[in-house]
Amino acid sequence: MRIIVIGNGPIGAAASRHLAVAGHQVTVIGPPEPTDKTRHQGVFASHYDEGRIARVLDSTAFWTRVKGASLARLAEVEAESGIAFFTRSGGMMTGPKDGPLLRKARANIAPYRVDAQELSPEELKRRFPALSFEPDIVGLHEVGAGWINPRLMARAQSALAARFGAKHVPLEVRDLTETSEGVIVTDDSGTQHYADAAIVATGPFLNQLLETPAPIEVYARTILFWEVDAAEATRLARMPTMVMEARNGREPYVLPPILYPDGKTYVKIGGDPVDRLISGKDIGDWFRSDGSVNVQIHLEAILSALLPSTKPLSRHRASCAVTFTRQDRPLIDRLSERIVVATAGCARGVKASDELGRMAVAALAGEIDPETTFTHARTS
Ligand SMILES: Cc1cc2nc3c(=O)[nH]c(=O)nc-3n(C[C@H](O)[C@H](O)[C@H](O)COP(=O)(O)OP(=O)(O)OC[C@H]3O[C@@H](n4cnc5c(N)ncnc54)[C@H](O)[C@@H]3O)c2cc1C
Repeated sequence: MRIIVIGNGPIGAAASRHLAVAGHQVTVIGPPEPTDKTRHQGVFASHYDEGRIARVLDSTAFWTRVKGASLARLAEVEAESGIAFFTRSGGMMTGPKDGPLLRKARANIAPYRVDAQELSPEELKRRFPALSFEPDIVGLHEVGAGWINPRLMARAQSALAARFGAKHVPLEVRDLTETSEGVIVTDDSGTQHYADAAIVATGPFLNQLLETPAPIEVYARTILFWEVDAAEATRLARMPTMVMEARNGREPYVLPPILYPDGKTYVKIGGDPVDRLISGKDIGDWFRSDGSVNVQIHLEAILSALLPSTKPLSRHRASCAVTFTRQDRPLIDRLSERIVVATAGCARGVKASDELGRMAVAALAGEIDPETTFTHARTS
């Protein structure tokens, strides 16, 4: 079949690889990352960063299964593409022993055979002396977890898709039209591309292409970066990625020191205290901004408590956006027999992307997980 994948992010790139390997004639249409985001007037993406947490264990069975399937294949993607993107630093969920996050996650360890170990407050202190926790906090430490460079991962997936014949058009799509014979996709140069079917994987910009809006929600996110020097990066080298259950029920997360393209090393924290919905034109405006000062202040307090001895050389914040459904599940379903949408990574869309891409391809053939349908997303 001739299939167009719209969007070359983690999910679209994974779908394009699965399609190309299966022998389909694939065209991927998606623009490169903007060089100056403050002036860019086109679309953005949720994965423009150097580090995203990757771990199997989750508070839901659905995501533990999907993330497990995805991460199990990514070593192969790295090996076959020759592009390394996964750093196995270990990953940890922390919180009160009987808090909802750890209680629910613990229940998924045995059924999904996750290699995770419970660490008492004393073990946390012994294993991670640079980190400071309140006395009642315990950890669930997953040995094979870590972080993924999402830009490199998308590049690796695309390289493998290209090896199996996929073509890439580095432009934005302006229009998607279905006819009785197939789909017509118009890019922003005005060129029309014809195919039998299409997968739309455009992240937060999905509803710009659909006549009837899909039931997804886009939330503004602010991230705080602390620049650390080489000595501090070495001191924190054994730090795992972390998701921490906070007293307000939110789950701020922290990544260990990562070298960024500007040559500096940053510890990153995210986790907005409240969800702020954005839609339409506001999404682009948000990406062009540098995020929220109030969220930075909130994150600053959490990071200072976790790393009391760390003195950052500098700090800055950035904006991003995440795509959710109300059911905390991805949206992977058919709009019609010829068009599948695949989005709503629910802040797990990098680590889960290879499986979400595979599920998008399966959806084209009518195999759709009941938890990822339009109907499921609309129930509240
Ligand atoms: C601050 C933050 C932290 C996160 N942390 C994590 C984490 O730790 N772990 C994790 O797994 N996930 C995390 N996520 C979520 C993850 O980044 C997303 O779930 C993931 O990027 C979704 O992938 P996607 O392919 O659906 O969308 P995107 O990454 O947004 O990619 C969509 C692609 O579609 C393209 N596109 C858009 N519109 C068009 C158009 N009209 N025509 C052509 N192309 C188009 C874009 O250029 C882009 O390349 C985080 C997200 C944010 C914002």
